[in-house]
Amino acid sequence: MKLIDILKQDKLSLSFEVFPPKTTSAFESVKAAVEEIAELHPAFMSVTYGAGGGTSQYTLEIAQNIKRLHGVPTLAHLTCVSSTKETVRAKIAALRAAGIENVMALRGDIPADRTEEDRSAWDYRYVVDLICELKESNADFCIGGACYPEIHPESVNQKEDIKRLKEKVDAGCEFLTTQMFFDNHLLYNFLYKIREAGITVPVIAGIMPITNANQVERAIKLSGSFMPQRFKSLVDKFGSDPAAMKQAGIAYATDQIIDLFANNVTNVHVYSMNKPDVAQKIQSNLSDILGK
Ligand code: FAD
Repeated sequence: MKLIDILKQDKLSLSFEVFPPKTTSAFESVKAAVEEIAELHPAFMSVTYGAGGGTSQYTLEIAQNIKRLHGVPTLAHLTCVSSTKETVRAKIAALRAAGIENVMALRGDIPADRTEEDRSAWDYRYVVDLICELKESNADFCIGGACYPEIHPESVNQKEDIKRLKEKVDAGCEFLTTQMFFDNHLLYNFLYKIREAGITVPVIAGIMPITNANQVERAIKLSGSFMPQRFKSLVDKFGSDPAAMKQAGIAYATDQIIDLFANNVTNVHVYSMNKPDVAQKIQSNLSDILGK
């Protein structure tokens, strides 16, 4: 099923993200976690590509299994940074052969040791180049892209970032998923600005439930997200008690989702990080709203 058909509905759609194992030996445990999340029958599940140290070779296999074994629509991530055209074309052909209908097109983060000279020799400089490649493949993928309510860290300002985002959409992105954010007003403000700029595709709000204090620093480093005082107080109070922190983090994420839906943001993607218990708890907190 194409995600665009799910994203245009008015009811709340809740989806979950998983990532491939870092090592081959971890594959079975990741597979089991993914299956438990799939059994919740979310609107869809996404599988990251290479992010967080996961090996990219499993992205396709995991995405295919979610769809085949559980009937849950899947979104396979694909990055292009420092890849050759040959490699990317082979990946696209494999996605197509596996019957994957939805692809999240991403540039990927630039490794810290790469110079401007290295970059100018790459086949793909920005994700828009990958989106064109996906369109040219004639595979009829439903293509998604990333967006940044608090601007992408490399951007000079939000106006420039939104201009680039529009180019991405014009090249063929049918929907966008946001970077994590912890203050919903940042998203509402961003949505207003992108709609003004003529970007009309569905935007999926990315919510990260912080379930342990160690995650906080990592999440900020990765996303540059602003931490509201309300969230900081929660970490200060519960950070040293793992069970309480988990409960408070899930409650905070649930609150964010309820507020989003109350403000007509119907599509929410939870960065569930291969944690079935977290996905399950969030879904059950919203059971009446979801009608599940
Ligand atoms: P782009 O859209 O290419 O933008 C990158 C930067 O370049 C931005 O600052 C943009 O404004 C600027 N830019 C774009 N076009 C131009 C242009 N023509 N000229 C000048 N500047 C330009 N990473 C992974 O490795 N694997 C994953 O699975 C993964 N999943 C993600 C999912 C989501 C929802 C998000 C938000 C991020 C994800 N990432 C993932 C991280 C992502 O790869 C990084 O944030 C990366 O730095 C940017 O990727 P992008 O596709 O947004 O890049």
